[in-house]
Amino acid sequence: MSVSSLFFITITLSAVMLLVLRSLARHGVAGVRAWSQANGLAIAALLLFMGRGVLPDLLSIEGANLLFLSAPAMMYAGFLQHLGRPVPARRLCAGVGLSISLLALVHHLSDSAALRIALTSASHGVVYALILFCLAGRARFAGATYPQRFSAGVALLLMAIHAARTLIYTGMHDSAATIFDHSPLNLAFFTLGTLALPALTLGAVMMANDAVIRRTTWAAEHDHLTGAWSRRAFFSLAEREHERTCRSGSPLSVLVFDVDHFKAINDTHGHAAGDGVLADIVLRTEAAIRNLDACARLGGEEFAVLLPDTGPDTARLVAGRLCAALDQSAGALRYTVSIGVASLGANESLSALLERADAALYAAKAGGRNRVCEAAPAPALAFGQ
Ligand code: GH3
Ligand code: MG
Ligand code: MG
Repeated sequence: MSVSSLFFITITLSAVMLLVLRSLARHGVAGVRAWSQANGLAIAALLLFMGRGVLPDLLSIEGANLLFLSAPAMMYAGFLQHLGRPVPARRLCAGVGLSISLLALVHHLSDSAALRIALTSASHGVVYALILFCLAGRARFAGATYPQRFSAGVALLLMAIHAARTLIYTGMHDSAATIFDHSPLNLAFFTLGTLALPALTLGAVMMANDAVIRRTTWAAEHDHLTGAWSRRAFFSLAEREHERTCRSGSPLSVLVFDVDHFKAINDTHGHAAGDGVLADIVLRTEAAIRNLDACARLGGEEFAVLLPDTGPDTARLVAGRLCAALDQSAGALRYTVSIGVASLGANESLSALLERADAALYAAKAGGRNRVCEAAPAPALAFGQ
């Protein structure tokens, strides 16, 4: 296999990656644009490299290398954007500029292609080290997803390959090596090098896909207005907790609450102010409960809180605290809620538990609102029921 055919393979792979990235463009995932530009730059660079001997050296050496180094730098910018971190654009441009100026100087002063290869490999190695650090810095790697670990692994491999190539070619600086050599060493580095950007782009595509899936899952499981769990997610969480409780015998409680005279709030202050109240309720509720409790919007201005491993005494306490916390809502828009609280009885079904909590909520409304009402005890089931 010749170096030219490897160039051709990489151009094809980068073009395929561009098409794959295009499919992600409409999802608005941060970084996709920069990753696409990186692959575009790589294609342009490889075309210039292939023009060696036909095009002027300034284009096929300095120009090609400028674009070829800008490609991983652009990948790096994409990874930073994807992770929501600032891109040090000026410093990156300065680094690429410095590397290409050095290359031009070496090219001007010496005929050694080996030295140029060592210099470009060192620059690429530095960019891959930056990518590795951005994806797998100490604090970041612990919670990293598989796609991020995959990309970090590719960056590590590329960094190591470029470090080895830099050392080997620095030692060969007075040989007649060129990048078009058919020597096994040159071809081995080239084969690995050609896969660099496509492999890294594959990692980036996996990260982008993961972000889309996570965003979609979040949207399916949460209420858009308040960020609370959705009704559907609440029922599946509650079902899971109910099963666990039945197995382990631990207690389980639920609060169901509804905003008092919410229609009047809407009528007096407008629908947007009403929406603000709903969002405020979830913020305050989440501040008042534990992490393992789940606050959900069941619909309209009705909410529920699932309290795993919580018996009736604690549930009553939490409900009272929540009722008071919501009553202290600041600003001109004061609101209150009525809460029904129920704890799972022996052999009780989830729907029966929620029905008792609902009945308690209506009792709280009937009792004057802005209060907690405890559900009647679960009826004892007859044997075999
Ligand atoms: P009660 O104390 O008996 O609960 O009285 P209420 O006025 O709160 O109850 P009602 O069921 O009469 O009115 C509920 C209102 O909630 C009517 C509906 O327009 C409003 N609502 C439902 N969903 C939303 C929403 O997403 N945003 C806003 N702003 N209002 C909503
Ligand atoms: Mg209401
Ligand atoms: Mg209601």
